[in-house]
Amino acid sequence: MTINEFIVANEVAIRLGFFFGIFAVMAAWEILAPKRALTVSKTVRWINNLGLVFFNSFVLRLVFPAAAVGMAAFAGEQGWGLLNYYQVPLFVAIVVSVIVLDFIIYLQHVMVHAVPALWRLHRVHHADPDYDVTTGARFHTFEIILSMLIKFATIIVLGPPIVAVIIFEVVLNATAMFNHSNVSMPKGLDRVLRWFVVTPDMHRVHHSVEDDEANSNFGFNLPWWDRLFGTYRDQPRGGHQGMTIGIHQYRSIKQVSWLPGMLALPFIGKVNSYAINRREWSGGDE
Ligand SMILES: [Zn+2]
Ligand SMILES: [Zn+2]
Repeated sequence: MTINEFIVANEVAIRLGFFFGIFAVMAAWEILAPKRALTVSKTVRWINNLGLVFFNSFVLRLVFPAAAVGMAAFAGEQGWGLLNYYQVPLFVAIVVSVIVLDFIIYLQHVMVHAVPALWRLHRVHHADPDYDVTTGARFHTFEIILSMLIKFATIIVLGPPIVAVIIFEVVLNATAMFNHSNVSMPKGLDRVLRWFVVTPDMHRVHHSVEDDEANSNFGFNLPWWDRLFGTYRDQPRGGHQGMTIGIHQYRSIKQVSWLPGMLALPFIGKVNSYAINRREWSGGDE
């Protein structure tokens, strides 16, 4: 049995193993060396953020039972997608697939910040007033469904090997938990890691209440896209201790930290001056 066959045959065990393994390591690190003091108790955070994660997994299983792996298998059988059309060595196909899927996630993340209706969904991730390992998996159910549809479209065009989809999802899940962790890390280590993976200090900037900071560092896994496309920001203005995390308008604990409030968050409030099409037009004077 090749490593490729092993991964495909043991997909569920590998996913769960990495999820609980990385979660346990990051949760322990947060307790031993926290970066910031939490504003809401850890118990409330874990129950509600993880409650949303389990609810989403359940809904996703119901709506898309075969998930991304099923779509990759189907594309393979049909011969759909660039990597199925051309004869590409498996290793090359895996590397290309992981990089392309990550780039699409970056573009998707920029899009959900720019389009007003999609920002309503994505703000559930940002409204968390604290930043820890459970923030990394906290997304509104409709955003999770949107992500899956975008992934399906990417798979149909790209035709990645099944094993590449499994590797990508496991790695993305692991890095999201890592870089949302409330952990203290030596500055030098952060500097080096930042060239290969998005670090906690890098992604924390993205969770600032300041609009210009929140519109930086969109990467979840590979850190290169932000540098290549001009959305990279090194540090928050107020420093990692002084910065405020969350969204200005949404600060009530019931709304941002309890599950019913989180699920309702996209549907409240008026359309405000947030996103891409709301910029003041100067009138052409200059
Ligand atoms: Zn975001
Ligand atoms: Zn985030």
